[in-house]
Amino acid sequence: MENILEIENLTVSFDGFKALNNLNFRMNAGELRVVIGPNGAGKTTFLDVITGKVQPTSGCVLFKGRNLQNIPEFKIARLGIGRKFQTPRVYLNLTVRENLDLVCNRNKNVFSTLFSRPKSAERRTVSGLIETVGLEAKVDLSASLLSHGEKQRLEIGMLVAQSPDLLLVDEPAAGLTDEETENVGALLLALAESHSIIAIEHDMEFVRQIANNQVTVLHQGSVLCEGTMDEVQNDEQVIEVYLGEAPPTPGE
Ligand code: ADP
Ligand code: MG
Repeated sequence: MENILEIENLTVSFDGFKALNNLNFRMNAGELRVVIGPNGAGKTTFLDVITGKVQPTSGCVLFKGRNLQNIPEFKIARLGIGRKFQTPRVYLNLTVRENLDLVCNRNKNVFSTLFSRPKSAERRTVSGLIETVGLEAKVDLSASLLSHGEKQRLEIGMLVAQSPDLLLVDEPAAGLTDEETENVGALLLALAESHSIIAIEHDMEFVRQIANNQVTVLHQGSVLCEGTMDEVQNDEQVIEVYLGEAPPTPGE
């Protein structure tokens, strides 16, 4: 199968501090890859380099075989990489439907958006998205009235509307209730059937829900270990790195 992403010997230095240190990574098209690691491991920087927000100090990122070196952020987005940031970025003064309408029309020219009524195919697309993200009951509500988890799902829907080939999501479960964490997890699993996705995650419960394939563990800017969730969880080094960070759960 074709590699959608190949990263070779990637290093990112901030004033001599290596946020990423000789990192190597590859994933197949169609994969849902979970990347975990303690705070400061370099997870967000990893996404920053893929999206062109940060330039590598050395090494390279190949997307569908193409070197992304020196390609500006907005062009990388156009090449088919969509990113969901940690905090939702939806238009709070617009309704759920209006938010989705906006992105569905963004790629067409201004005149057709201004002077034509939405075509039925477009309406279907928006309705389909609303259903996918599970916000049917809230379509006409202002986005400001959504819960944090619902906003996360709306923003994931807005990303999907742009049909990216690779979807990057940074800690989508952070700050969510258990119920919303499960909803977001179910949404990512549904999207994984037709998208390549990298989900960065800190929360182990959430990882267990969505990681049915390869998991990559980052530590100090490099890949510490890769494998199934079971393999990774039983890896001595991974246990050490996570125990060094968080206090054990009571009762364990
Ligand atoms: P994670 O997302 O895994 O918590 P980050 O990628 O945000 O980790 O950060 C990795 C390390 O790089 C941290 O030690 C952080 O302080 C440092 N870092 C990130 N961005 C910058 C920056 N712009 N300037 C200096 N240091 C940075
Ligand atoms: Mg981060």
